[in-house]
Amino acid sequence: MTDTAPEPGAATEIEPGLRRVLAPNPSPMTHWGTNTYLLGSGREICVVDPGPEDSGHLEAILAATRGARISQIVVTHSHKDHSPLAARLAAHSGASIAAFGPSEAGRSPVMQALAASGFAGGGEGVDADFAPDRLLSDGEVIAGPDWSLEALHTPGHMGNHLCLALGDVILTGDHVMGWASSLVSPPDGDVSDFMGSCARLALRQARRLAPGHGAPIEDPLARLDWLISHRRGREAQILEALGAGPGPLTADTLASRIYADIPPHLLPAAQRNVFAHLIDLAVKGMVATPGALAPDSPFTPV
Ligand SMILES: [Zn+2]
Repeated sequence: MTDTAPEPGAATEIEPGLRRVLAPNPSPMTHWGTNTYLLGSGREICVVDPGPEDSGHLEAILAATRGARISQIVVTHSHKDHSPLAARLAAHSGASIAAFGPSEAGRSPVMQALAASGFAGGGEGVDADFAPDRLLSDGEVIAGPDWSLEALHTPGHMGNHLCLALGDVILTGDHVMGWASSLVSPPDGDVSDFMGSCARLALRQARRLAPGHGAPIEDPLARLDWLISHRRGREAQILEALGAGPGPLTADTLASRIYADIPPHLLPAAQRNVFAHLIDLAVKGMVATPGALAPDSPFTPV
C-alpha cells in the first residue's frame, strides 16, 4: 500500500470509472484529508462524500466533472469531514442527496437510550444539519448509465454509516481505513455494531476497498481480520484490568491504566473508546453495572 498524499483537488483514477478527488483538510483525525469519489466516466456522474464545507473543494469537484452532469450525490455518513458540502453541490447540480438517514439514524437501542439520557458525542464532528433527500436502505441498489452501487448499512463508526459496493470494490467510508482503526465513540459509535459490520464486510470477499481517508486497501480480508483482532485485544485488556480491580472500576480509571503511555490530550478519546467497549461487554453480559449505563458507571466482571 502506498500512502503518499495525493495532490488536493486533482482527480486520480482508482479503477476504471472510479476517480478520487482529495479534499484539502488534512489533520490527525482525517489523515491526508477526505477522499471524495466520482463514479462513472460518461455523461452522468455520482459523487460520493462531497466532503467538508470548502469552496476550493467544491470548485475541484465541479472541474473534475466538467462536461458531465452530477446526477446523484451519496454520503457514507454525516461527519463534518464527509457530508456538509453535499448541500451546496446539490444546489449547484440539482442532484439529490442519498444516505441511510440523518445523523441520529441507525443507532442501536442501547445507544438510543444512552443519547436519551443526555449523553452526547465527544466532539467528533457530527453534521447535525445533514438532511438527505433520499433514504437508502440496506441492500438497495442505485445506478446511472455506467455506474451502480449497492448500499450496505454498516453501523459501528456511526449509526447511519453506509459502505457502498461497486461490484467487488467497496467504498468503506470511515468503517475500514488502511492508516488507522476507526473511531468508535458512543452514542454514535457502537462496538457491537462495528464488529458485526466488519464480519459482514468480510463475507463480501471484496477485491479492493476504497476508504474515506488514505490509500486503497489491496488486501481487504487481512485488514478486516486486523480490525477485528485489534478490537478483541482491547476487550481482553479491559477484562483483565477489570478483573485485577480492586472493586468496580469506571471507564476513566480503566483507560488511565490501559493507556498508561499516551499523551494527556488523547486520554478523553481513550476513555470514550473504553466506555464503548464496556457497553458492548455489558450488552454481551460479560460485565455488569448497577443502574443505567453512564460514562461514570462502575463496572464489575460477570
Ligand atoms: Zn467519520
